[in-house]
Amino acid sequence: MRKYLLMAPGPTSLPPQVLLAMAKPVIHHRTDEFKAILKEVNEGLQHIFQTSNPVITFSASGTGAMEAAVVNTLSRGDRALVVRGGKFGERWGELCEAYGVEVMPLDVEWGRAVDPAAVASALKKNPDIKAVFTTLCETSTCVHNDIEAIGKAVASYPAILVVDAISGLCADDLKTDAWSVDVVVAGSQKGLMLPPGLSFASISAKAREAVKKSNLPKFYLSYDKALKSLAKTDTPFTSAVSLIYGLRESLALIRQEGLENVVKRHARLARATREAALALGLELLSKAPSNVATAIIMPAGMDADAVRKKLTRDFSITVAGGQDKLKGRIIRVAHLGYCEEADVITAISALEMVLRQLGHACEPGAGVAAAEKAFAHYHD
Ligand SMILES: *Cc1c(COP(=O)(O)O)cnc(C)c1O
Repeated sequence: MRKYLLMAPGPTSLPPQVLLAMAKPVIHHRTDEFKAILKEVNEGLQHIFQTSNPVITFSASGTGAMEAAVVNTLSRGDRALVVRGGKFGERWGELCEAYGVEVMPLDVEWGRAVDPAAVASALKKNPDIKAVFTTLCETSTCVHNDIEAIGKAVASYPAILVVDAISGLCADDLKTDAWSVDVVVAGSQKGLMLPPGLSFASISAKAREAVKKSNLPKFYLSYDKALKSLAKTDTPFTSAVSLIYGLRESLALIRQEGLENVVKRHARLARATREAALALGLELLSKAPSNVATAIIMPAGMDADAVRKKLTRDFSITVAGGQDKLKGRIIRVAHLGYCEEADVITAISALEMVLRQLGHACEPGAGVAAAEKAFAHYHD
């Protein structure tokens, strides 16, 4: 038996309070008692989405809410601008294509953020674009996109802005209403400190107008059904009762710490992880790093997946590897959700030992020292 440390960008490790909340007996979902819980949860979601618009909950992983965003706001033959700078941007494109939506790709080099001016100029040239799809954190490259600037670029056009914040919510700041984001999609197993199984979407008035015109097929993922139920503090189908118990607890924990402080904690952990990697003589992939996770390029000739496997085998620490063309080249160390300074120090210390064993020349403690200094800087 070993103590297990989960530092992948989803699923993330869970606070004991959340685990305990989910162990309670299941009650019936059409009762006043459950309604009271739903009311609290729906308000808590609006708080962390930083919106006064409704936030709906699906019993589906994050991709379910991504699919819902496509099928509820668009029609066959519509054109959508899709920012593609990694796996999850590509997923927006695949989803659109699956439903006969014409994809106008805005391709971005993996590791870089999209230039908001490029979004603006695509819209100017193609004013018939119905939706712009992008990500807050492109988890495959650990890049943070400037949603505030993209929101400004999109707001004056008829197109709606849809943001995949499945990993980014609570880690990277996202002012949904203030930044004119029409649909924000999130998932349970990342910054929300819950098991996989729930996903969410906030829906603006502009998006609700698009919903009225949409003719793509939908049933389980219908916004219309979900919004009608939400107005009565109900759900169209059976709620994932135990996950909702957990969600109530995780939202309470976030409120206790303060959303702003939660984001600041993520920024602090991300910065320390980057400083540690650099001190170990390693390079970072992302030119616009997110607070969610840090993509570290492994030394030339070293298999990143060997590093990852050794971290698991020798230290029971799980980090993520690279996807697609980044497979074997990077590891992604997440500092997401229920994660604090000591977790980062533990992970960096284990990484140093693994790297040294695999032949990378670095001083024991060099990464840890850099991380500690980064923390001190924040506490000054
Ligand atoms: C994890 C993740 C997803 C996928 O969500 P699932 O829960 O696996 O369906 C989508 N987008 C981003 C940015 C993610 O990080």
